[in-house]
This record gives sequence, C-alpha cells and structure tokens, in this order.
Amino acid sequence: MKYCSQCGSTITEQIPDGDNRIRFVCAACDTIHYQNPRIVAGCLPVWGDSILLCRRAIEPRRGYWTLPAGFMENGETMQQAAERETLEEACARVTGLRLYTLFDLPHINQVYTFFRAELLDDRFCAGDESLEVKLFSQAEIPWSELAFPTVGRTLEYFFADRVQQTFPVRNEAIAPMPMARRQV
Ligand code: ZN
Repeated sequence: MKYCSQCGSTITEQIPDGDNRIRFVCAACDTIHYQNPRIVAGCLPVWGDSILLCRRAIEPRRGYWTLPAGFMENGETMQQAAERETLEEACARVTGLRLYTLFDLPHINQVYTFFRAELLDDRFCAGDESLEVKLFSQAEIPWSELAFPTVGRTLEYFFADRVQQTFPVRNEAIAPMPMARRQV
C-alpha cells in the first residue's frame, strides 16, 4: 500500500501507539489501514453418489479441478457466499447447506470454508470462471489434478465420513506446500 484510500497522502509503515505490529498508517489523516485475512467460502455439492467439480478457467491453477468457492463479499453471510459462488462458477443451485470444513492458511492470510450441500436438480454448466463442470463419483475424482489442498482435504474427509454417515465439522491449518509434493 502506497497511498491512503481516505485522503490520498503517502502511507508510512509504523507501529501505532498501543499496538504491537507494523501497520500502514497515514500521517496526514491518522487512518490506520489494517490488513486482515480474507475468507473463501464454497460448497461441496452432492448429487446422489457424485460430487460436482469445476475445472478452473482462471489463474491460479487454471485447468485444475476445484469445488466451487470464492472470496466473500461485504454484506453477505458465509452460506450466501458459498451459494453465490456455486451459482457463478457452476450455474448450479444448492440447498441444505451445512458447515463442513474450515481451513486456516496463515501463510497466505486466508480462511477457507466449505459447506456440504445438495444440488437442487441436475442442471448445471460452466460459468465464466470455469472451463467445464462435471459430476464425479468417488472412483472418478481426479486426485492428481485438484487445484488446491483445501479441496483435496475436503473430498478425503467427505468420502471417509460418508461411510459412517456422520459428518463432523473439521478445522485444521494447512501449511505451505513444497513444490514437489502432489497437489491434493
Ligand atoms: Zn489519509
């Protein structure tokens, strides 16, 4: 950040009084521009035995498969964000959302959350950010072509939990991934 979004003056980096971290501070209008983690919300859309995945049309990870998810907008709930992203990326409508996985990704300042959900019907198609959208059975999941670790972890939990038919909320931190490791 170089310029103050309030008054346009040059920003300095300093520790404000009573704080213990370096912040972006405007010396002209005294505004402190806090930087905080961003929340990504998405769905695990279920249709019978299958899961709906989207192949990304945008970077990062263009061409890789993901669950529909994206950054929350101001003024909406996490469930609304998850529903909206599913509609935008997969043109799919979902119902019965239940919080399922919540991942902390402190190395990229994000919190990632997925809701289990049922597709309302079997009508879906690729939205602007998707190359294609498709239902996958457990045996068909393209594990080596998943876009993000959060997607792989959520699918792993789901297929394990489905055997027991109990789906506790999962919360874990995900560490940065060595480049060589398989992307799941
Ligand atoms: Zn200012």
